[in-house]
Amino acid sequence: MKKIIISVLAATTVIIGFSFFTTKESQKEITKIERVEKLLAQMTLEEKVGQMAQVTLDVITEGDTEFSSYEPLKLSDELVNKAILEYHVGSVLNTANNRARSTEKWHEVVSQLQEVATTQTRLKIPVIYGIDAIHGTTYTAGATLFPQEIAQAATFNRELVRRGAEICAYETRASAIPWTFSPVLDMGRDPRFPRIWEGFGEDVYLTSEMGVQMIKGYEGEDNDISNPLHVASCLKHFLGYSVPLSGKDRTPAFIPEIELRERHIPAFKAALDAGAHTVMINSGLINGTPVHANYDILTKLLKEELGFDGVAVTDWADIDNLYTRDKVAATPKEAVKIAINAGIDMAMIPYSFDFCEDLVELVNEGEVPMSRIDDAVRRILNLKHQLGLFDTPVTHYKDYDKFGSKEFETAAYNAAAEAITLLKNQEATLPLKKGAKLLVTGPNANSMRSLNGGWSYSWQGEKVEEFAAQYNTILEAIQNFNGKKNVTHVAGVSYVETGKYWEETTDIPAAVQAAEKVDYIVLCLGENSYTEKPGDLHDLKISQNQIDLALALVKTGKPVILVLNEGRPRLIKDFAEGMDAIVQTYLPGNFGGDALADILFGKVNPSGKLPYTYPMYANTLVTYDHKPSEEQDKMEGMYDYESDFAVQFPFGYGLSYTTFEYSDLTVSSTSPSATDELTISVKVTNTGKVAGKEVVQLYISDLVASISPDMKRLRGFEKINLKAGESKTVRFTITGSDIAFVTSDLQWTVEKGDFAINIGGQSDKFEITETKKFGQSGQML
Ligand code: BGC
Repeated sequence: MKKIIISVLAATTVIIGFSFFTTKESQKEITKIERVEKLLAQMTLEEKVGQMAQVTLDVITEGDTEFSSYEPLKLSDELVNKAILEYHVGSVLNTANNRARSTEKWHEVVSQLQEVATTQTRLKIPVIYGIDAIHGTTYTAGATLFPQEIAQAATFNRELVRRGAEICAYETRASAIPWTFSPVLDMGRDPRFPRIWEGFGEDVYLTSEMGVQMIKGYEGEDNDISNPLHVASCLKHFLGYSVPLSGKDRTPAFIPEIELRERHIPAFKAALDAGAHTVMINSGLINGTPVHANYDILTKLLKEELGFDGVAVTDWADIDNLYTRDKVAATPKEAVKIAINAGIDMAMIPYSFDFCEDLVELVNEGEVPMSRIDDAVRRILNLKHQLGLFDTPVTHYKDYDKFGSKEFETAAYNAAAEAITLLKNQEATLPLKKGAKLLVTGPNANSMRSLNGGWSYSWQGEKVEEFAAQYNTILEAIQNFNGKKNVTHVAGVSYVETGKYWEETTDIPAAVQAAEKVDYIVLCLGENSYTEKPGDLHDLKISQNQIDLALALVKTGKPVILVLNEGRPRLIKDFAEGMDAIVQTYLPGNFGGDALADILFGKVNPSGKLPYTYPMYANTLVTYDHKPSEEQDKMEGMYDYESDFAVQFPFGYGLSYTTFEYSDLTVSSTSPSATDELTISVKVTNTGKVAGKEVVQLYISDLVASISPDMKRLRGFEKINLKAGESKTVRFTITGSDIAFVTSDLQWTVEKGDFAINIGGQSDKFEITETKKFGQSGQML
């Protein structure tokens, strides 16, 4: 087992990856297993297949069709009976009419479903309700919405991520729901992909570390999900979802196994080792095969190699997609056969009951073995047992008095405040003096929608203004801090709120005119909210209207502070040089406006760091852990070319209002073996005039390897708080498995030879004295 021990000075030592069962706990486990086996033995085929079916809420509400519901929302007795009594459906997901509901309404809906399931069915098996609660409890009005995962990654603060997930678990249970479809562990390695903001960015180690924290926040330290303060987590989207060749959602990805193992499996493996209970499958295709049809990925890799014994649920309609979209099945029924035999346990159908009929027929025809059905249903019943649903099918909002509390809001604010990343600050433009005359402009200046992004009160986030009116936009937060009279607002460019996310209108001359009377321009640019397919783009550049607005404002000669509020890094090269300061807010959630204002005026010292490489050009999309050839030096002789490498801002970058000096880098051994623990320490001093937080980042480079080595890899980080003048020593402990990579035999390997260390500009070297293999899944992140 690999241990990572990180200590700051003499502070507490944290050992990750250690767990045990007491005798009492194992007894509890045995009882649960017996109960599940007893139940399974009594079930008919139809009842078993029903447990594997998940329908969306609109299907069972009163409404004209299965696609929508009447308001006020009401379950239809007839349709609920059809789903639960006739088809024995075991799971329901999503909200109705794509809008957030009150905790009271959630309680009413889930109670009614459980009443039917636990009193009117033969075996009284409760349903399991699942929902996308992804940055807080997305679909509950009044819930605490946190920064999206990409911004949480930018905090580089494990505790904040864990706390956010704890609060989300609490508020999801307050909504009577025990299962969230979160976290996203897809690697954000292509800035064009419309969902990179749903993950923790481009780095394997950062994503793994933050993913583990989220699991622990959702499920608790001991993964006791029967605790009504915890929910079951769902890792998604297994595997390789975020890197389609075209950059567009649900289009083919081509990923060699060596790359899958080096960069895409580790975060999932770390989260599985942390005890995550469920996994959602990648809706796309890898190397031509839809992942929902891929036995090697679903059964051999996920269940056998990685030892996953929880529930593998499909993504939305993805069994049908094998027939309708990907054409690997000639009929919908064949699609069911392929997916279930590949290893799917639960189908997010979501609209029709044909799945149930097809699967019953397939088993009766011998096309799907009963053992596969039993395996799937066993996993589902276990999950229901583990969640305590047989004892407590519904939790009650009245038991959750901290829902939407000040305490929770403060946690969301803190996460936003530590996420926001200062990327440029020419001549100390920031912090601003209180009372400065400001023009606040740009399409993102006065929008709660753009602060939150997709999955906020609705799927695409278009209903945010209706639900989040009590929180402050960037404009409102600046007005609150600086006095309304000192703040002029002219949008210059506006989003068309009823249109596609990229539609805009402009009045640039009005903004230019307003700039005449102010000291500074706060220019808020970026994107409107989107997710999934509707968020695809044709051009990574920020919109031409926004470029025009920026260039027109630069011409006024007034200092411009660019505030970015965007799900992915849209290219800003055309005007970045003209900006006096640049601040990245990502999608900081409901308290992002307040946190930004506090940073702009110096009440908070920024400490966020980029969790991805900010590209400069659309055709130069490289991650920081690229191969040396991307940065090749000039060759000698006639063919004297060199590589053309340029990025706008590097991974891990972010400025502060203070300065930090690194010194005294020490390494405990210059020639460790592959299994020795190596301690690397460095002293960090706050040499500026104000307190600040610094993310100490440990990079290690394998200098020569049998596979061209990555230029460098993040192998540790720790965020520390330093008063002006204060110093701390940060220690990282690593072993050979932490710096291993996947060799051509697909084994995690550390090869003997030289490695370079870099922390904050301090560098050193060590030599690994022997080559060692750790196996296919050997790297215990
Ligand atoms: C998304 C998933 C989500 C699911 C259920 C799908 O379209 O890809 O991330 O969990 O819908 O809402």
